[in-house]
Amino acid sequence: MSARPTASVVHGVAADFRSIPSVDRLLRHPASAALALEHGHRLTRDTARVVLEELRGRADRGELRASEPELDQLTTVLAARCQAQLASSARAVINLTGTVIHTNLGRAPLPALALERIVALGGSANNLEYDLQRGARGDRDSLVEALLCRLTGAQAATVVNNNAAAVLLMIAALAQGREVLVSRGELVEIGGAFRMPDVMASAGARLVEVGTTNRTHPQDYERAINAHTAMLMKVHTSNYAIQGFSSAVDEAVLSGIARKHGVVLASDLGSGSLIDLSGYGLPREPLPQDKLEAGCDVVSFSGDKLLGGPQAGMIVGSREVVERIRRHPLKRALRVSKLPLLALEATLQLYLRPELLARDLPVLRLLTRPRSAILRQARRLRAAVAEALAPRFTVEVVPLMSQIGSGSLPVDRLASAGLRIVSSASRHGDRELETLAQTLRALPRPVLGRIADHAVLWDLRCLEHDRELRVQLPQLRAALT
Ligand SMILES: *Cc1c(COP(=O)(O)O)cnc(C)c1O
Repeated sequence: MSARPTASVVHGVAADFRSIPSVDRLLRHPASAALALEHGHRLTRDTARVVLEELRGRADRGELRASEPELDQLTTVLAARCQAQLASSARAVINLTGTVIHTNLGRAPLPALALERIVALGGSANNLEYDLQRGARGDRDSLVEALLCRLTGAQAATVVNNNAAAVLLMIAALAQGREVLVSRGELVEIGGAFRMPDVMASAGARLVEVGTTNRTHPQDYERAINAHTAMLMKVHTSNYAIQGFSSAVDEAVLSGIARKHGVVLASDLGSGSLIDLSGYGLPREPLPQDKLEAGCDVVSFSGDKLLGGPQAGMIVGSREVVERIRRHPLKRALRVSKLPLLALEATLQLYLRPELLARDLPVLRLLTRPRSAILRQARRLRAAVAEALAPRFTVEVVPLMSQIGSGSLPVDRLASAGLRIVSSASRHGDRELETLAQTLRALPRPVLGRIADHAVLWDLRCLEHDRELRVQLPQLRAALT
């Protein structure tokens, strides 16, 4: 006798194991034939196998309902499964974390103009690396070099895949087999595996630490320079701040030292910003143009942090130094792809109209939303959210503080507002909050807040349109009851 049940009973209905059709029989159904026309035979057949295999598994476990092996129902499941495999598993999410440039959430949302360029040009042959005037091979830097020079005052510019690549390339091209001096206060770990000492080693340069964690003086650099020194490097301490009894040597002083000894002065700005953010009431982030003016030979910064564009790494500086960087073989390995390059050109062009930037550049638009507007929005939304979450949770409007994110200005916070959601249960409140957070992540457009002080906090700074949240409230309500 077989241990396998041939029939099972669920809700009082028996489903015969043998009533599950064969793959061939399922594929001969007209609806399956239509699917095969739409998606091809291979995907339809492979998916049919998986669907039927699962059905047999459920029959084995006695979970099968009588209606499930019916052909009509099976073809509906089959169609949905074929479709699901073709949908992106990447999803738009609603970022209510309060961190505007969130590294885990795609960093800067792209400006409309950048998206238009990608759609307009991404699908056809293009001249990104072809000089139409000369009818010869061109350089993909030419798309953005003039813009970068105009915006930063640099003599030359080149672009690679991201700022980590830019730093690696700068060091490899300018200091391979030689020494690079970095202050002990600037030996940054950015996150992931990007640690300055490791990057140095990968680029084939020897890191020489100077000064101490909290204080580094000009003579620390002076004393460490010898015949093997190729570069002095400044690294922006993006994600931490050294406060109290501290001092660092600024670029203006370092450039004098670099010049005197004939070595290069490089600066990794991390985020960098092409405009003075203090003009918008935001904390000031160093500008590449200031660093070049102070005497840096070369400066690198990210495309998708405060710049507000696609992932990319900018390298701007003197003609001679940028040319050396461009000629290094790693440049080819680290080059930027066509889609981000198109998006970068469009993003940089927005900076040619600075008065419109807070409207056209999403990162800046979000960063400059005043608390008063966010507070009004929170008041507008509170009742509808409370209704969707009742009776398990209660909702109140609260002031909050947002962060810029991605290592920009780690200490500064932006006045914001949002909703504070707490469990109505007198016990196991935290478990309730975890359930809520999980339910929110399972929505068609997942909603990501943060949990703090026994509450789910929704910072509404990055919610530009109430509708995105409102349309999901009925579903949220249903999921919680
Ligand atoms: C963010 C950052 C990097 C890395 O830039 P990506 O564009 O993320 O590769 C390098 N250095 C500093 C100081 C940074 O803040």
